[in-house]
Amino acid sequence: MTMAANPFLDHRMPSPRLGLAEASTIVNQRFALAGTVTELESERDQNFRVESDDGRYVLKVANPAFASVELDAQNAAMAHLADRGLRIASPLPRATRDGDLRIRVACDGTTLDVRLLTYVEGRLLASWGHLAPGVLQAHGALAAQTAAALASFDHPGLERVLQWDCRRAAQVVEALSPSVADPVRRELARSTALAAEGRLVPLGANLPEQAIHGDLTDVNVLAVPEASGRPRPAGIIDFGDLIRSWRVAEVAVAIEGVLSHDLDRPLQQACNVLRGFHDVLALEDVEIEACWLVVALRAAADAVSADHQLLAEPANRYVARAHERDWRVLEAVAAVPAALAHEALRHALGLSASRALRAVHADVAAVRPAPILDRGATPSTLDLSLTSELLAEGAWTQAQSSRAAITAHARVSNVGRYAEARLTSTRLHRASELATVHLGVDVLAAPGDAVRAPIAGRVRSVAAGALVLAAASFDVRISGLDGAVDAGSRVARGALLGRVAVGADDDALPPHVHVQAVAVPGLAAPGSAEGSVTDAWLALCPDPTSLVSGAPAGAVAPRLSSAALLARRRRVLASPQENYYVEPPRFELGWREHLVDSDARAYLDMVNNVAVVGHSHPAVQRAVARQLRLLNTNSRFNYAAMVDYAERIVELLPAPLDRVFFVSSGSEANDLALRLMRIATGGTEVLAFESAYHGWTTATDAVSSSVVDNPRARTTRPEWLHTVSSPNVFRGAHRGPDAAQRYAEDVRCTLARLREADRPVAGLIAEAVYGNAGGVLLPEGYLRSAYADVRRAGGLCVADEVQVGYGRLGEHFWGFEQQGVVPDIVTMAKASGNGMPVGFVATRRELADAFLAEGSFFASVGGAPASCAAGLAVLDVIRDERLQARASELGEHLRERLSGFVDRFEICGAVHGMGLYLGLELVRDRETLEPAPDEALAICERMLEKGVVVRPTSDGNNVLKVKPPLCITRESADFFLESLESTLVDGW
Ligand code: PMP
Repeated sequence: MTMAANPFLDHRMPSPRLGLAEASTIVNQRFALAGTVTELESERDQNFRVESDDGRYVLKVANPAFASVELDAQNAAMAHLADRGLRIASPLPRATRDGDLRIRVACDGTTLDVRLLTYVEGRLLASWGHLAPGVLQAHGALAAQTAAALASFDHPGLERVLQWDCRRAAQVVEALSPSVADPVRRELARSTALAAEGRLVPLGANLPEQAIHGDLTDVNVLAVPEASGRPRPAGIIDFGDLIRSWRVAEVAVAIEGVLSHDLDRPLQQACNVLRGFHDVLALEDVEIEACWLVVALRAAADAVSADHQLLAEPANRYVARAHERDWRVLEAVAAVPAALAHEALRHALGLSASRALRAVHADVAAVRPAPILDRGATPSTLDLSLTSELLAEGAWTQAQSSRAAITAHARVSNVGRYAEARLTSTRLHRASELATVHLGVDVLAAPGDAVRAPIAGRVRSVAAGALVLAAASFDVRISGLDGAVDAGSRVARGALLGRVAVGADDDALPPHVHVQAVAVPGLAAPGSAEGSVTDAWLALCPDPTSLVSGAPAGAVAPRLSSAALLARRRRVLASPQENYYVEPPRFELGWREHLVDSDARAYLDMVNNVAVVGHSHPAVQRAVARQLRLLNTNSRFNYAAMVDYAERIVELLPAPLDRVFFVSSGSEANDLALRLMRIATGGTEVLAFESAYHGWTTATDAVSSSVVDNPRARTTRPEWLHTVSSPNVFRGAHRGPDAAQRYAEDVRCTLARLREADRPVAGLIAEAVYGNAGGVLLPEGYLRSAYADVRRAGGLCVADEVQVGYGRLGEHFWGFEQQGVVPDIVTMAKASGNGMPVGFVATRRELADAFLAEGSFFASVGGAPASCAAGLAVLDVIRDERLQARASELGEHLRERLSGFVDRFEICGAVHGMGLYLGLELVRDRETLEPAPDEALAICERMLEKGVVVRPTSDGNNVLKVKPPLCITRESADFFLESLESTLVDGW
């Protein structure tokens, strides 16, 4: 069949126009259904929705361009899928009273084919904003299941000439592009199609063909919401493009049809869809090679067709809406080099670099180069990775300080490494990845030094100080040049190419020459790549050290793999030792409120109340390092650090708390507090909040009934633990103005029961701001009353300050101050050491002395000199950097903005807490307060993609905890708010 036979190219085919009344009559009389009929939007057919007493249907009036045999093929394909028991919902034709699956109806002088199809429930995938990687994979899997089922389908109606057949896309672009008014867009569509077609022609004959649905885009895939709120692709509709064509077109169309959901990451989306497809239906190598080319062709054909159809039907809203989106998709697709896409897709499927590239790698490796610089290389490398000592203490956060640090250290001829994720390219507060991984080597040089050709070649191009030398099977890109030779010239090995440029002011590196091999001649390769496409780029830009004579062996940086590390972790660590995230980034560097992963991407850390003064704080580092150089030993010796630190702690506590025990963690501190309570009172019974967490040791675990950490916690606590209602005025038993009294009554009743049962009370352990519930403030007056009752019953009151103490609340240094009480025992850890093992129990003298009844106390490294040095440094920084005031100020800002989210977004139920201990509680229903834990996790995964670390807490696992290092800047706080806001708007 020739293209001239294609009616779509010869005529514009407007959608049929059957009247609503006629449609109703057909439904009624021919299909014997009573019900309401309403018209739906459609691109080229005409569809009516039918709500009948016998279910929902779609009355489909086919565009007259379709032959009846094509419609019969569609009917048969739907039946075929149904027969194969696919777990994908798809429509089925319903017969008329006379048993016909298709009828002919006269309308406006033509005859229209009309069918009644069962309605498939669900929401169009298009109606969701962001599509998570797992959703894209599921979309690919659905396309693969469809294609696999259709592989055994045949029908004469499959042989058709169709505008949407990807095999014809290039011809469609050629034929319809004159309709494109904008010359830039017209040229883009043409050149994209031409380039893709050129590469596809040699593959075409080898591409397997079969029956395919051919149009599994986001408007033909129906999804149902998962518990997380994410869509689960579950159904397919619209068999109008059913055809025998390339099998790979099924997935290519499925890919192209979702790219509008994230126009900045077309390739990453494609990788996910293809992975999902390939897992179900393995594609051949040639199909993988063709995949992106077909995506590009389809994108070009879609864009020009949209223009074309808009001309035909300026009033068709469906077409108008799709129009701009289609062009943006094409622009995004055209920006991805096909060679890159091919390697990235292969990598996503776990395949090695393509064979052709591997051969070029060998060619590059075999080069015996002439020296690029006359000085000769010194065999030493420059470490610009995230673990570089050179860039420590945040030097990397500014180009100027990076350059100063590097210049102070580096020497001419030092070599910057290939494949290195460079901290010099890291930037803070970026919602998407930056190009951080270096694809060449840099040789440091003096400005004006001669730069010579390592091998002979022709100068392919020269632009902005970068010269591309075409050698036999590959290109060499050399940048950082002044006065480069002209494009087109032939240069001999060792010939002068230009001179070393001075370098730009904002360049983190001192003057240098960048040397890069490019395995695909003519490919415009960047100098660095984003982490997610690095493996593909490294395949395209092979190790160039063979081009630099004398390059040191270490000039290729090791790739730090998060997945490989996780696998090692699983092999050696106890299985209950948990980790954040399904696919956690690998963090090897922290600075202030930022964490940097192995691809040198910076994340904002919103959960780290351990690193209270910020990650890697220089004052803490130095204090610990200094102390380690002098002395670090067990706490039975007499040295100053422990005494100095204890004095500082006592100064911060209200009277009569004046004695300190040193331990190394919160669990130890609480364990000791429980023991102390019992020794001092002679009591055995302990009261604690329901759902609390106080630690992992046997005793602290006993008083922890949080089911997040231990699902059996509620039913397996010892007899001596008595939980009192969680005093949570948002979702607890009492929420009204008398909540404090009612919760206090619960404590009183518990104590009364114990008295009656003659069970002596040791005391109450509680957080004064309920951190583990998500920063919930206790009702005013509650602890005052509870403490008084516990004391009356002979017990002691312990405030667990491990999470909320140390200035985090802004207005208060200690959590108990918020409730206006003074505990008998205070426990502290986490923040006290800024990540070092520093914890303590503070109490009053007579209680401490009571411990002597059971002997002395000693924890080997609790209160060790280096730990106390860390503890003192943390207190100094909190004071000197006025971090408590900052907690107050930024906490107020965050709280206000988060409260605005509660007004705007249904899922945001409440904001808890104060200062920089806040919790955003997510609920499914504002009446029932049903927690939204799946949504919370999904939101956290999405926030990670946007460069923010945030995690859920509470027994419902539905409160996003906002407790960043107290040194957080306003800019960081706003970055967090923007990321969260866009997630709530666009979906997760
Ligand atoms: N108390 C509270 C309130 C906690 O949140 C935690 C830890 N999450 C602990 C005690 C235990 O501290 P650690 O992990 O240092 O043992």
